[in-house]
Amino acid sequence: MSKSLIYPGLGAKGYTLISTRSNAKGTIFKLEPQKRLFICPVCKSTEVTTRGSVDRTLKTLSIGKREDVYLDIKIPRLHCHSCGKLRYMDTNISEPRKSYTYQLADYVSLLSQVATLNDIVFLTGLSWYKVNDITKDFLTKKYSKPDLRNLTRISIYEISTHKDHKYLTVVINADTGQPIYVGKGKSASSLDGFWTLLGKRRAQRIQAVAIDMGKAYISAVKERLPHADIVFDHFHLIKP
Ligand SMILES: [Zn+2]
Repeated sequence: MSKSLIYPGLGAKGYTLISTRSNAKGTIFKLEPQKRLFICPVCKSTEVTTRGSVDRTLKTLSIGKREDVYLDIKIPRLHCHSCGKLRYMDTNISEPRKSYTYQLADYVSLLSQVATLNDIVFLTGLSWYKVNDITKDFLTKKYSKPDLRNLTRISIYEISTHKDHKYLTVVINADTGQPIYVGKGKSASSLDGFWTLLGKRRAQRIQAVAIDMGKAYISAVKERLPHADIVFDHFHLIKP
């Protein structure tokens, strides 16, 4: 893993980053929802007033398990003037009552196609129970295919599992932080499935690719995306 590696986008649209701190657990980004997210989850009305709040900590994506990353969010409870219900705001970042983000769930879902349960526990820092929970959801099609619309910048990472140093190749949407592909190995052919997924038309729209390391990726990207810029400094995307 390169030393310049930075977290991919937090994928927290509609939030303001209040502070960043590190402790023994990892790095914690404190986020505050903007008013535009104050929508009644029942009837979608914006005629709401806040009635208290709850603090939640969500574990989110960190590639290659360099350290754990958490989002601390104060979630307002909304009283809806249209339907009269009192409900916590829908975060758009995680499912209600889950302690991990959609991003992390997507990552686990993709990993589950190529890695063992133990490897996923190691790579994500999630408990066996939670990994199992997510993959079960994935099997029941709760998590859909990655969204490739508006994809223009991607990051390609090489990660390795602990014991036997099996390598995996991970592709992330650099603008949203959403994981979109995981392939076995760290060779040019590890990206074959990604090129198929991407398709030729969408490939034309890719403007820039951040590559962690590995000449194999560079040659593959030059061949498949000759028009795209290759950068070695992962886009610094700590912007919600
Ligand atoms: Zn309502």
